[in-house]
Amino acid sequence: MLEAGELLERFQLKKTEETEEYIQTHKTAVGKESADILYHILLLSHDPKIDISETFKKKIGKNRVKHPIEKAKGNRAKYTEL
Ligand SMILES: [Mg+2]
Repeated sequence: MLEAGELLERFQLKKTEETEEYIQTHKTAVGKESADILYHILLLSHDPKIDISETFKKKIGKNRVKHPIEKAKGNRAKYTEL
């Protein structure tokens, strides 16, 4: 949570366009914070032997059904309202 907070703090109070520009101009810093988050996710999943790669693929598959791209792309509505 702390690492996620460090990443999100960079985007706090920024509009979408400002966030996109910030990422483009701060790729290294955003990448380092993202790597910190990934490190902790991998650490948390290691001991209980969670196959995080497989879990991720399954989750993306479910999301693909739940949020069909033709309805969800560019749409901020909740999935139940797509
Ligand atoms: Mg960090």
